[in-house]
Amino acid sequence: MPETLILDGNRVATDIKESLSGAIQSLAKRGIVPCLATILVGDDPSSATYVRMKGNACKRLGIQSIRLDLPKDTSTGELILAIRKLNADPNVHGILLQHPVPHQIDERAAFEAISIEKDVDGVTTLGFAQNAFGFADFPSCTPAAIIAILDYYNISIEGKHAVVIGRSPILGKPVSIMLLNQNATVTTCHSKTTNLEDIVRLGDIVVAAVGKPRFVKGDWIKSGAIVLDAGYNEGNIGDVDYDGCLLKASAITPVPAGVGPVTIAALLKHTVAAAEKLAK
Ligand code: NAP
Repeated sequence: MPETLILDGNRVATDIKESLSGAIQSLAKRGIVPCLATILVGDDPSSATYVRMKGNACKRLGIQSIRLDLPKDTSTGELILAIRKLNADPNVHGILLQHPVPHQIDERAAFEAISIEKDVDGVTTLGFAQNAFGFADFPSCTPAAIIAILDYYNISIEGKHAVVIGRSPILGKPVSIMLLNQNATVTTCHSKTTNLEDIVRLGDIVVAAVGKPRFVKGDWIKSGAIVLDAGYNEGNIGDVDYDGCLLKASAITPVPAGVGPVTIAALLKHTVAAAEKLAK
């Protein structure tokens, strides 16, 4: 079998970020600096790391980032109030509420408070619906990253059987829809799926979005399949057993340096696009 292609997320992310410099410069000429506001509720160390990484990526590209740290006992009402202030701030173009939020918060209600113009991670029901219809300005960033990786490497989606493991509203479901919109035949699996391994074995494209380290085993993968690992677990471990799947796949994303950096690049791209849209 030919050597497995390692889908290099850093390369794809660099390509996306480089493509933004023209837009950032022309906005700057009009006195506009794209600005992403990230909200972190509580002190979960991994969430704090993700927010910091996003802030640093913004800075490197000349995008402003505002970080709002709220205490872990913040109520849904208080969080919504903070989001509404950001909605009303003309200098803020994108709003990202870091997920998960502490249990006392109604996460859905908080997501819904983000105005559609600033919903750069596609978390609102309207953003989700627009994505389902295929005309979203800002689909969820991780699903967008998965499509961007396939696109960058000229891997065709049309006619392929895509098996997605996971159905969360920000990852499994939207990526299933995006693959369907690109004419894949899609099977979405979840915790109640029976014969999961047999279904995964049918996949020409396999997307792992489970939240369980090394969950997808090499012997579940059809020979020559394309494996995209969206997982990110403690210790930089994906949802795919990389070494096992590498032996079977024709192409695979590593963790780290796979889907993760492209997700951040997609967030920056959406923030710049939101600023451009607001400037029109
Ligand atoms: P989530 O909300 O916890 O959803 C996990 C999904 O996996 C659920 O749909 C669940 O099914 C399904 N699942 C759980 N156990 C299963 C099993 N034994 N068999 C089949 N399906 C099972 O997680 P998420 O937010 O979608 O995140 C998924 C992964 O992606 C995590 O590793 C997360 O860290 C990572 N992630 C990465 C990025 C990035 O930038 N790379 C961004 C976001 C998330 P049910 O619906 O039936 O419960």
